[in-house]
Amino acid sequence: MRECALLSLVVPVYNEEEVLLQSYRRMHDVLTALPCDFEILYVDDGSRDGSWAILEEIVRQDERVRALRFSRNFGHQIAVTAGMDSADGDVIVIIDGDLQDPPEVIPEMLAQWQRGYDVVYGKRRSREGENAFKKWTASAYYRFLRRMSAYEIPLDTGDFRLIDRKVAEVMASMPEHNRFLRGMPAWAGFSQMPVAYERQSRAAGPTHYTLKKMVRLA
Ligand code: UDP
Ligand code: MG
Repeated sequence: MRECALLSLVVPVYNEEEVLLQSYRRMHDVLTALPCDFEILYVDDGSRDGSWAILEEIVRQDERVRALRFSRNFGHQIAVTAGMDSADGDVIVIIDGDLQDPPEVIPEMLAQWQRGYDVVYGKRRSREGENAFKKWTASAYYRFLRRMSAYEIPLDTGDFRLIDRKVAEVMASMPEHNRFLRGMPAWAGFSQMPVAYERQSRAAGPTHYTLKKMVRLA
């Protein structure tokens, strides 16, 4: 069984003042129970609300937390990329900051990594609290994408996943500017394993994935 010395949790944050503290506490509780050390790496993607002040306070109180701050809003994929690039862990877990990806799934992801899988991705069994439009566009989009691609991109899978360091290094070496992080590990190869989970409602606040951002990602 593989041993993990350090797990890096990468959390992109854009105007999440309403959920940040609650989300930090839940992530922290899950990570403390893991059989390895951890760091939490927040990337503030140009928030205009009180998110940065909250992050500064968390960093002050917990030495295992680091935070990067963007000069403006660059977008979710770029925020996650910056977090991955500065992560030190042998495994990296990408998770949304709004608790839609339940941190309680992380131990199961780590267990699959210990068994030898290099990418363990969260597969949404259901989506709570999202409107019919979002569900329909997401479902149609992932199915269309799958038919169009030459390699297997898993269905109903977002960016919530665990990535082994060597896969993260391959991703970091890829020169694309317009990054599609949930497709890149599939392209890179390596052994992949899904873990099913129920996508939760946002703990609070509105989505920051506007229709324009969704179209751009697509
Ligand atoms: N996010 C970000 N930059 C953006 C939009 C979103 O860093 O421009 C973050 C956001 O704070 C959250 C995650 O990316 O942690 C997913 O965004 P959101 O919850 O708004 O999207 P949805 O879950 O509705 O698709
Ligand atoms: Mg969300």
